[in-house]
Amino acid sequence: MTIPAARTNLLGMSRDMLERYFAGRGEKPFRARQVMQWIHQRGVTDFEAMTDLSKPLREALKRDAEVLPPAIQSRHDSEDGTSKWLFATGCGQAIETVFIPGPGRGTRCISSQVGCALDCAFCATGAQGFNRNLTSAEIVGQVFVANGELPRRENGDPAVTNVVFMGMGEPLANYRNVVPALELLISDYGYGLSRRRVTISTSGIVPHIERLGDECNVSLAVSLHAPNDELRDAIVPINKLHPIAELLDTCWRYAAKRSNRFVTFEYVMLRGVNDSIDHADELFGLLGDKPAKVNLIPFNPFPGTVFRRSSADTIRHFQNRLRERGVVATTRRTRGGDIDAACGQLAGEVSNRVRNRLGAKAIGSKNPKVASA
Ligand code: SAH
Ligand code: SF4
Repeated sequence: MTIPAARTNLLGMSRDMLERYFAGRGEKPFRARQVMQWIHQRGVTDFEAMTDLSKPLREALKRDAEVLPPAIQSRHDSEDGTSKWLFATGCGQAIETVFIPGPGRGTRCISSQVGCALDCAFCATGAQGFNRNLTSAEIVGQVFVANGELPRRENGDPAVTNVVFMGMGEPLANYRNVVPALELLISDYGYGLSRRRVTISTSGIVPHIERLGDECNVSLAVSLHAPNDELRDAIVPINKLHPIAELLDTCWRYAAKRSNRFVTFEYVMLRGVNDSIDHADELFGLLGDKPAKVNLIPFNPFPGTVFRRSSADTIRHFQNRLRERGVVATTRRTRGGDIDAACGQLAGEVSNRVRNRLGAKAIGSKNPKVASA
């Protein structure tokens, strides 16, 4: 019996990877650029339709290769224009991706892993634990599918103008698959987005921030969430490995690698945990004279969590305090609430087992994750 060879999925291959692939088939490097334009700019998956490839090459690709986006499990459209897709990732698991329209732009919030190993205390993805890394095809495929399904913009451009890695998973813990996806997003033969419009959000994997700065310097958002190590150790456990001073040093070097660049610091507003005026002042102490912006995120509760969202007044006071002292600070609007699609709160399929575990932990302690850290 002969087992047929698996087809190579070209969807997640960067220009370099495709050039190597075509070189291996005795083809010229420009084939890579042609195929990228067909796939990422025209949304074509059928090699037969790629009419500027020679007939024999098309036949060979039909036999050996494929353009395979992740499988859509469901799509929900919210009343405020936000849409959420669930993609099946095998073994009954799924990842989530959101599209958020805004004035002059369309932001795709994408996932990089199924689950996450970093276990931040307030995060629904962290509560699921880690399942697996997404492939680069699954990562870039989330943008491919949105551009294929959503109408083009009035000026004829594709729907997605901005991409943020703020869905499920820690992108810098899946560096080897995230970088080819980033390259496709910013390539003129891929999605052609400027680096400013592609944002990696990380909880602070310092060595990979450093590497990203050298290899693919896109916009950087860092999930700070606390202004001192004691508190950050408790709610963002990676801080024990890479504490705030080390993280911030790396951020300033990252920003300096391109002029006029800011690092955005995300700060989830947790009632009674990190939201006092003293915390705002401490945060100012860290970021005051630096190329930094702060984005306050109202906490999105999920079943089993012990945290609560800070009140709107508390969030406003916190933001005003930073602004008075000269720090650029904004508060993220919560969108897509009716379809549970707020960006940064993509829960995926949280199993009952996990929910029960969290629920059990919550009993007998007001704030078990903080208390036990
Ligand atoms: N792992 C990366 C990116 C995914 S999370 C990171 O941590 O940065 C995207 C953002 O949503 C992060 O700032 C994260 O801390 C935040 N977030 C996670 N859970 C949240 C919740 N329940 N409510 C509000 N923001 C949350
Ligand atoms: Fe992972 Fe980010 Fe959630 Fe932390 S906040 S557990 S790093 S997805």
